[in-house]
Amino acid sequence: FNAFGGIGESLGAFSRIRELLDIALENDYDVVPATPLTSNPMAQGTSVYFKKISFGYNKLKFGSELAEKEENLILKEITLRAEKGKRTAIVGPSGAGKSTILQLIERFYDPDDGQIFVHEKDYRNYSREELRKLITYVEQDSPVISGTLRDNLQLGNRKVNDSDCIKVLEEVNLQHLLSRDSKGLDMQVGESGASLSGGERQRLAMARSLLSSAEIVLLDELTSNLDSLNEMGMKKAVDKLKGKKTVIVVAHRLSTVIDSDIIYVLEHGRVVGSGSHNELIDTVPLYRELAKEQFVDREM
Ligand code: ATP
Repeated sequence: FNAFGGIGESLGAFSRIRELLDIALENDYDVVPATPLTSNPMAQGTSVYFKKISFGYNKLKFGSELAEKEENLILKEITLRAEKGKRTAIVGPSGAGKSTILQLIERFYDPDDGQIFVHEKDYRNYSREELRKLITYVEQDSPVISGTLRDNLQLGNRKVNDSDCIKVLEEVNLQHLLSRDSKGLDMQVGESGASLSGGERQRLAMARSLLSSAEIVLLDELTSNLDSLNEMGMKKAVDKLKGKKTVIVVAHRLSTVIDSDIIYVLEHGRVVGSGSHNELIDTVPLYRELAKEQFVDREM
């Protein structure tokens, strides 16, 4: 089972690096339907709308019929609305299917059942090229290339100038890097960003998404405990996106969760509750548990 997971993950990582480096592949699914596929009134005002999405990874192993069997489904009839310009958080126990939702939005996989709308249109209307202009993905292993800070910030958008770079580094609380070895934007980040911490690498990827024209930011937050500088930097970076981008975040930080416009609670591939932090604390026992566990020692 997990052998297939390995392949999926490598494909994902490869695809992301390729997107950043802007390499086109001939076998991309650039087949745009001749007539636009139906829109849906419920999708109005949303950047991303999931309508009863079911999905299983096991097609490679079992064939599609068996993969669709209830016990093999990773996502089960997920309905989710990410409103334009708002922050939507997804929380849930490990293995609940949170990251899988982000992978489907990126179209690394297609759902077995249900429909996904991006900007109110069935997302099969978009070519891969169009989707990657609309969506950026920021995760723990977001690619950092060996080279300078500037090289990394200009990836995917060569028009970005030095003052844009400096401004955005401040916005994500990475300004300290500019004076680290007095090289400013010429600072070398090391082999795949080895001289940066995990939190710094993720914030560098956030800086890149702020500089990009993509309106939708998918953020898979670090699970590890961050020191206070990193924590503050992450909060500042996520807050910076507010109002500018639609953010869908697999959230592990209390600040990200609480400040979200809507939170979806996932358990075993199903949505078991949605609402604001206070609503969920009152009404969804699993959320209360998660809040206790994940945000232990923090003010709730
Ligand atoms: P975590 O909080 O631990 O990251 P998650 O809620 O994000 O978990 P997912 O990563 O979406 O969960 O995984 C959901 C389930 O799907 C898990 O059982 C996982 O093992 C499985 N899975 C994830 N990726 C693949 C893959 N590429 N191939 C096969 N199974 C996978």
